[in-house]
Amino acid sequence: MKKICIIQRKGIEESPIICELSALLKQEGNETYLLIHSYEKNLLSAIKKEGADIIAIQSEIGDEEWSKKICMEIRENFPKSKIVSFGSIPTFYQEKSEIPADFLVVGEPEVPFLSLINFLEGKEPELINVISKDSIPTKIQPTDFDLDSLPMPDREIYYSRYKVLRDFPVKRFLMSRGCVLSCSFCYISGLKNIMGKIKVRFKSPERVVKEVLQVSEKYPLRFVHFSDDLFPVWNRTWLEKFCKIWKDEIKLPFSIVTLSNFLNDKVSSSLKEAGCKFVIIGVETYNEKKRIEELEKTSVTNSIIEGAVNSLSKFGIKAVSINIVGLPGEDIHDWFKTAEFNRKTGISLAIASEFVPIPKTPLGSLSVSNDKSNIDYVRNIFSLASRSKLFQKISLIFLGFEPMKFILSRIGEAYLMLKLKSLYEVRFLEGLIYFIRIGRWKDRRANLHQIG
Ligand code: SF4
Repeated sequence: MKKICIIQRKGIEESPIICELSALLKQEGNETYLLIHSYEKNLLSAIKKEGADIIAIQSEIGDEEWSKKICMEIRENFPKSKIVSFGSIPTFYQEKSEIPADFLVVGEPEVPFLSLINFLEGKEPELINVISKDSIPTKIQPTDFDLDSLPMPDREIYYSRYKVLRDFPVKRFLMSRGCVLSCSFCYISGLKNIMGKIKVRFKSPERVVKEVLQVSEKYPLRFVHFSDDLFPVWNRTWLEKFCKIWKDEIKLPFSIVTLSNFLNDKVSSSLKEAGCKFVIIGVETYNEKKRIEELEKTSVTNSIIEGAVNSLSKFGIKAVSINIVGLPGEDIHDWFKTAEFNRKTGISLAIASEFVPIPKTPLGSLSVSNDKSNIDYVRNIFSLASRSKLFQKISLIFLGFEPMKFILSRIGEAYLMLKLKSLYEVRFLEGLIYFIRIGRWKDRRANLHQIG
């Protein structure tokens, strides 16, 4: 039996993967607790107070410096604890990550953590999906266990210590892993390159409903967001069963993420009847040729996206899109064209994130644009520019004028916050408290991986 301390950098939201990992570790007789660095006055004293055999640091791309620094501080202060790094940095950079941890977890964390504990207890001679600094033999292999076999997620690991997360009425659930596509910029293609074939897996409708019911019985819950990469609307039998049980037993509004190709009138009608309020789809760029050929988002044509949005709006479901600014080969004029494409298509809310090259993906070796100040600017104003042609024009006029860029950026950010508040049906005061506590929304993507 081991005592495991999990450290997360920011407290924007709980990670369903960490909840599932913690439940599994506990089921196997271990003890777990979690500390969010941004919420702790003194992280090291908190660890000292509790003690830990293993200190596991969630290390996501974008947090490289923090991950190295926190790892070094922990090493100095807790020389007897084993230090583990998990998340997108150890998965994609592996030894090149330069994180001074004893062990690097590759991919989904459940199997590697159990393998590591078995190894440390002398029960297994080798590791699975764990790289050790001492060159212990390891096997890197796809994990394809049945998601229904996992114990119910341990949300208490967050909520017992952080009331801001417990009391927020919107909660994230994860009911699948993997994706049918393998887009060249996405971590999924990198994972497939590292692990080999990755099966798309999803929980049964009964299991999903049970998880949501358990949370709603214990904690505030008014809106459910399924943050899967691909909500399986393409599986008609699964979808019909899910919608029926959801309507009968949960009756809460919800949102999903899926591929435009799978959205049609039949699917939209079932989703609407079950209580779906909005669907998130990937647009990435206005440029159809680039999306299909370079980004390898095969078959997602502009007309497929338009058809999906039309179908959703026919049934009163809002369409939200994810877009990328800073893609190799694109400049600021292309990013504005993407905003305009969203506007013309009738997307309710278009969200932009910055292109980050992920190692082991086809686009992983390409360098990022050095137009950093404009990337930040367009990302901030993107949602409003995707709704208003006038705002697009004003944003372009003031491109060379920093004080106005600053003001327009704040207006753009405020617009995005208000739209999100309204989409997730959050009350004004609740939203205000939450956003003051969590810090800036743009940090959110750090938690959006299925590997950490
Ligand atoms: S970008 Fe979306 S559709 Fe493409 S592989 Fe990643 S999760 Fe799948």
